[in-house]
Amino acid sequence: MSCKYYKKCSGCQLQNLEYDEQLRYKQKQANTLLSKYGRVEKIVPMKNPLHYRNKVQKMFFYDFKKKKLVSGIYQSTTHRVVPAKHCMIEDEAAQDIANSITKLLVSFKIKAFDERTGRGTVRHVLVRTGFTSGEIMVVLVTATPSFPSKANFVKALLYEQPEITTVVHNVNPDGMNLTLGLRSEVLFGKGYIEDELCGCIFRISPASFYQVNPVQTENLYAAAVDCAELTGCEKLLDAYCGTGTIGIIAAKSAGSVFGVELNPDAVRDAVKNAERNNVKNIRFECGDAGDYITEFSSAGEKFDVVMMDPPRAGATVRFLKSLCKMKPKRIVYISCNPKTLARDLNFLTTHGYRTQKIQPFDMFPYTKHIETVVSLVKK
Ligand code: SAH
Repeated sequence: MSCKYYKKCSGCQLQNLEYDEQLRYKQKQANTLLSKYGRVEKIVPMKNPLHYRNKVQKMFFYDFKKKKLVSGIYQSTTHRVVPAKHCMIEDEAAQDIANSITKLLVSFKIKAFDERTGRGTVRHVLVRTGFTSGEIMVVLVTATPSFPSKANFVKALLYEQPEITTVVHNVNPDGMNLTLGLRSEVLFGKGYIEDELCGCIFRISPASFYQVNPVQTENLYAAAVDCAELTGCEKLLDAYCGTGTIGIIAAKSAGSVFGVELNPDAVRDAVKNAERNNVKNIRFECGDAGDYITEFSSAGEKFDVVMMDPPRAGATVRFLKSLCKMKPKRIVYISCNPKTLARDLNFLTTHGYRTQKIQPFDMFPYTKHIETVVSLVKK
């Protein structure tokens, strides 16, 4: 497989390797970093490693050579935009929609926002698709408060792409690092999409975190819940719970679940997701996972199982100390960064835990990223 944008985009670091070689490379990485803590299982591959991303984002800018608005993708780690119409890891229908939007913006004479001059209107578009539901959400992001001729624009877009189920206009006046601004207006449909994972339905709002590879996410979550070895009566803590996915899936096999998450929007979605799935033995709190677990362990409150899915930076020492002080029977660590995972496993295995299973997943083919589930038990 080769991608003509590879050199400029550099999002797919393993682009030059065949898929089998990518898997071997990742296995070696995982072994090197993690085998000190236990046997590393064979990485779970994807049957079809292409077009797996359910989230497509295209930036708009004015191309001085072509003298018109074009769309592109951010160069990995910078804010330079690379003109690109096709990406080999993104969902194809969603890319087609993004390309239709680019053409419509040109025919509606809507200008791309220019960061340097502060002129223009549209910044970027986000297209998110529900893998099982087939629902599709378009989020049009402008720098200006209004979107010119929005009703006609949406009408023309739906005419070209009738499978879109909702269109949202988001206003992001101060740009750069924030993908979405605080103000949104639903232009068509319900303003969010839903998708199914492991038999539960989840709401995906424009800004909420949702794993980008639905096929592997299902395998990952199933493995994580399996590792928890729930018997129906356990008190389970879902730390860094996002929109509550893991906790909600695990809840039917647990006594009760407590989810903690820093992002208030994700917590709101989590509460709605629990209601939507009629899960009653779960509650969520918004806050720092480290603060919560420290309070719990100081108050002598115990959880039987702790599932933790921290961001790339891993857990803080404070979190890990309090976790070990609480002494849950089992810990299930879901990691998107084997380096910080290795660091945290070093702590956990020297503070009363031993690993039972270390299972890597290839969630992000063509990129260097490795996802891992580790189950640990109290020694
Ligand atoms: N388990 C979820 C989310 C995983 S992503 C899922 O699978 O969808 C990691 C989550 O940790 C994000 O939602 C992020 O907002 C949250 N987070 C980051 N720092 C945190 C902290 N200090 N305390 C609690 N949650 C945090």
